Amino acid sequence: MGKKRFIPVAAPTLCGNEKKYVMDCLDSTWISSNGSYISRFEEEFARYCGVRHAIACCNGTVALHVLLRALSIGPGDEVIVPTLTFVATANAVTYCGATPVFVDSESYTWNIDPHLLEEKITERTKAIIVVHLYGHPCDMSPIAEIARRHNLYLIEDAAEAHGAQYRGRRVGGLGDAAVFSFFGNKIITTGEGGMITTNNSELAAKLRILKGQGMDPNRRYWFIEVGYNYRMTNVAAAIGLAQLEKIDWHLQRRQEIANWYKESLGNSDLFRFQGTQGWAVHANWMVSILIHDCTTDRRDKIMAALHDRGIETRPVFYPLHTLPIYRHLAPPGGLPVAEHLASQGLNLPTWAGLSREDISFISQTLREIVNNS
Ligand SMILES: *Cc1c(COP(=O)(O)O)cnc(C)c1O
Repeated sequence: MGKKRFIPVAAPTLCGNEKKYVMDCLDSTWISSNGSYISRFEEEFARYCGVRHAIACCNGTVALHVLLRALSIGPGDEVIVPTLTFVATANAVTYCGATPVFVDSESYTWNIDPHLLEEKITERTKAIIVVHLYGHPCDMSPIAEIARRHNLYLIEDAAEAHGAQYRGRRVGGLGDAAVFSFFGNKIITTGEGGMITTNNSELAAKLRILKGQGMDPNRRYWFIEVGYNYRMTNVAAAIGLAQLEKIDWHLQRRQEIANWYKESLGNSDLFRFQGTQGWAVHANWMVSILIHDCTTDRRDKIMAALHDRGIETRPVFYPLHTLPIYRHLAPPGGLPVAEHLASQGLNLPTWAGLSREDISFISQTLREIVNNS
């Protein structure tokens, strides 16, 4: 009997110069956090995002942490974040001793709702972190206007949105700074990795000091900050550079996959896709749908049935204010749009190696299971 195929929800696709560049690191013995691939990856990534500086880190979570530290966010401060995001967005705030303040989602794009943001600002608020959820850019103009008016830092958590565009501009340069992740399931990967992008040269210099143990750039082993070792290795950067060379192909494949899902599921009342605004280029990190009139319980059963048929899916993020670690920060039911999306939402397998037949099989199986549940 043939072994049943299992389709993961995400998987890296390494079909460019990854192996060649990694072998180059090994042959040259430049495998640690010095080496030419680091600066090449940083320069190329900055160019891609249309910003002046890119600073590589060993993952996206620490990139967020060191960025907030560099902006002097600390105890007593508040930072506005969407409740519908990966936990790392809020954890980075917590690491600094500051408090995340959660905002509800828009029901169409699922991103932070600009209309609900301003009422959360207090005299303690220092920054807004927006998250381009599942690859759809946030509505940056009204948010930037609010940030300007209240003198707040505006940070993009672009961990899920490499190459996404807001009104013709790539994410990464739309606020004071942005953070990307290159974890194995992201749009492009270095295994583990992260990047901070910014146009602010002073901030970039501070980030380089803080991520490299706080050492004075002009005096070795003289430490001027309590810094961190958050450096990326040359090996990871080698993989990243090869991935970045093919980012247009990765994004094209993801768009094609999203289109196939919409063709095969879009004409049904059973499903609603995460919306795409006319001004947005969606990076399609995870094609995401709501199952009509579904409870969390039924959604979880549908996911289990898909798993039995060899298809891995993920639930839409649990809103952070519903988790035990952040429950004390917002009342239950207080952010109803995100709670609704989370109860009905599902991420479908989305990665560059999937074929049209895979998408047909997934869609057909999903339809069948939903109809019979
Ligand atoms: C993946 C992710 C991160 C964290 O990145 P890591 O590289 O896994 O540490 C942060 N924010 C969001 C929204 C993410 O999806």
